[in-house]
Amino acid sequence: MKHNPLYFVMTVDVDPPPPSAPDLKIDEGILSLLQMFKENEIKSTFFVTAVMAEKFPDLMRKVKRDGHEIACHDLDHSPMVDKLNLTRLVSRLRIATQLIEDYVGVRPYGYRAPLFKINRNQLVALYKNGYIYDSSIIFSPFFRSLRVFSFSKPFFVSINKNGWLIEIPVSTNPIMPFPIGGAYFRVFGEKWAKAGMKVNFLFKNPLIFYIHPKDIIVQTSGPSWYSYKNTSKCLDSLKEIINYAKKTGAIFIKAIDLAYLFAKIKI
Ligand SMILES: [Zn+2]
Repeated sequence: MKHNPLYFVMTVDVDPPPPSAPDLKIDEGILSLLQMFKENEIKSTFFVTAVMAEKFPDLMRKVKRDGHEIACHDLDHSPMVDKLNLTRLVSRLRIATQLIEDYVGVRPYGYRAPLFKINRNQLVALYKNGYIYDSSIIFSPFFRSLRVFSFSKPFFVSINKNGWLIEIPVSTNPIMPFPIGGAYFRVFGEKWAKAGMKVNFLFKNPLIFYIHPKDIIVQTSGPSWYSYKNTSKCLDSLKEIINYAKKTGAIFIKAIDLAYLFAKIKI
């Protein structure tokens, strides 16, 4: 293996349709992504809400069959989940994990919090439910984190004397410090994303990119301009990003494999 290789982790957040567009065909968005990933021969990590696993069990099983990782993205994407106490967080996560396992046939070991809102109690709840990694932290002042950008690499979160969890932060672009993905990617565009990738790769940070099925479903109206802007060209832009990552020599890897690789190196 190449010395100190660059890694690219493509992640897909399978949220329920937004309240403003309850009829949005999330399943069609997922199918388009699967097709594109197949054509580009990449494996990714799908953070799935339990309610969407329940709604589309066959499709989620296809995601798994295609070789992608199934991870957890909460029960129903409640924006208030970080306000729950530890006991409730533990049981909520137990239910979400079980539902995903029942509907998809695989238990998730990775987690991403709705709206990237993560706190200490959630991390403890993940540990208590046997999770290996979390991928919710964003190193950006806009996301209440002042950690130095160049440390945007996986790290251990100590839970108790012997217990730990691995955190895989979502990559940030230092030029306008927002996470590289989702609506930021649609609004700021390919050049902005590529510049962010370049700086991260310079620091040998793995690039953790995220997208939603809804980002690639063509929409011409919505509650705000950024909820639909550039949805018509997002899939093509995403292909460009994948090509760019390939050109830089980055290795595409699932988040769980990056976690294992990191743990193996560090332990
Ligand atoms: Zn989400």
